[in-house]
Amino acid sequence: MKKHIAVVSLTVLLPFCMLLISWGTWGHQHINHAAVFALPDSMRSFFYNHIDFITEESVIPDVRKYTLNDKAEFARHYIDLESFQTSPADSVPRGVKEAYSKYDSKFLDKNGLLPWYMIEVVQKLTRAFQDKKKAEILFLAADLGHYVGDAAQPLHTSLNHDGQLTDQKGIHAFFESQLLEQFGSSYNFYTGNAVYIPDVQKEVWKLINDSHRLADTLLLAEKQLSRSFDTGNVYMKSPAGVIVKNKYNQPVHSYAYASAYHNALNGLVQRQIRVAIAATANLWYTAWVNAGRPDLTLLDEPSLTNRNRKHYKKDYKEWTKGRLFGFKIDKEF
Ligand SMILES: [Zn+2]
Repeated sequence: MKKHIAVVSLTVLLPFCMLLISWGTWGHQHINHAAVFALPDSMRSFFYNHIDFITEESVIPDVRKYTLNDKAEFARHYIDLESFQTSPADSVPRGVKEAYSKYDSKFLDKNGLLPWYMIEVVQKLTRAFQDKKKAEILFLAADLGHYVGDAAQPLHTSLNHDGQLTDQKGIHAFFESQLLEQFGSSYNFYTGNAVYIPDVQKEVWKLINDSHRLADTLLLAEKQLSRSFDTGNVYMKSPAGVIVKNKYNQPVHSYAYASAYHNALNGLVQRQIRVAIAATANLWYTAWVNAGRPDLTLLDEPSLTNRNRKHYKKDYKEWTKGRLFGFKIDKEF
């Protein structure tokens, strides 16, 4: 009997957990990968030497959640802003210290701590640059790219994160994974050069607030579409007429519905991916500048940098045309 219960709860919980994976592998890997090319010359060749690590590690924060079941990890990926602003008089502390003194850990674990955690990771990355600790630089930079990506996903900033309050359950994965996997290959990943951020805290909150304002937009667009669309054609069906599910047991939307939703969003998905790429590169760059611009070329064997140079130039050129090279992604849909 116990076994039976365990099986049931896993089947029920797993799809729910995977719904909240944030941009999926496709999005996170493209964000971190593209951000490498937006760095100035003095940082770019070092990051390029480790671009595979930076790319693959972009999803590790989610692995810590689901595969390692690290309980402390969950709240780092979102903030339900509505829970912090229950009345117009509520002011949400911008700083890490203020937030941890105003709210108890139970409240933060429930309602999320994404912006404060991002600020902390930027601080840690700055110290890693100062100390020229190569492994820490790469690990923290890749992690930071993940959280920046989450912040640019509007549903990660809202209490209605899976449309569960507006009868749109399943929209989280549909928006961030299925749309990207279906239409992302045509996106333009060129975002220009990274810029220095004078006030990291302010920039992090701008990212969160801008993203939060888009949550209603993307929910409303889907709601309107679902009203005008033939209900029988919303989901992909097997020849026997059964709704097709992906490996996480999530319903797969029909190509026509996904395409209509993507059009209705009018470039919103691509814009948010580009926002995440630019913000990731900007924060990496800012941490490096604030650390006193350490010489990163000293951290690798010159022979490695030399051997990579040919591909580095080619891949950089591709990026300036908006394209990224070499992706083979384990798709979710
Ligand atoms: Zn995440």
